[in-house]
Amino acid sequence: MKRRDFLKNIFVLGTGLALAPELAAGKLAEAAWQTGGELPGVVVQPTYLHFRSLTNRTRTDAIVVHHIGNTNADVSAATVHEWHLANGWAGIGYHYVIRKDGTIEQGRPLGTVGAHCYGENYHTVGVNIVGNFEIAEPEPAQMASAARLLAAICRFYGFAPGSDTIFGHRDFNATACPGENLYVRLPELIRMTQAQY
Ligand SMILES: [Zn+2]
Repeated sequence: MKRRDFLKNIFVLGTGLALAPELAAGKLAEAAWQTGGELPGVVVQPTYLHFRSLTNRTRTDAIVVHHIGNTNADVSAATVHEWHLANGWAGIGYHYVIRKDGTIEQGRPLGTVGAHCYGENYHTVGVNIVGNFEIAEPEPAQMASAARLLAAICRFYGFAPGSDTIFGHRDFNATACPGENLYVRLPELIRMTQAQY
């Protein structure tokens, strides 16, 4: 091999090695999107987030509802993703984020184990309704979207919406989440979800 060809091969090999992890991450995010996008009956906004390693969830029989809590701002799934990466997590811990205008954004891929409710992540889907519901009220558009989303998740996994399948974070952990003003409306959200189911 001529020295020039040798160097060319080294260059190609080097480039390939440098690009491989990014390409792999891109494919992972794309595959993850297929998972989220396959949830029928609800429109979910793609976010194309890149995650560190994730684990598939083998059982799903409940949904845990959260709020943001530390701010009442209209934060995005991408912002929460940055926060949770900074925690050293794989990425956003919630599977869905519902913005103030009712837009449902994809968080962690639906089929993977979340990081949102200590001790319950291996069998639950985490939904964050954006806001601080200790001080504010959920928007009507958020309640309507949450009902559609929760009904779609229940249909997808084959369990009926009820007080034994839809919980607030505080039902499991010592936290104010999902905020008093949303927590007292969980029975209403469950009835709305049942109407969509
Ligand atoms: Zn929470």
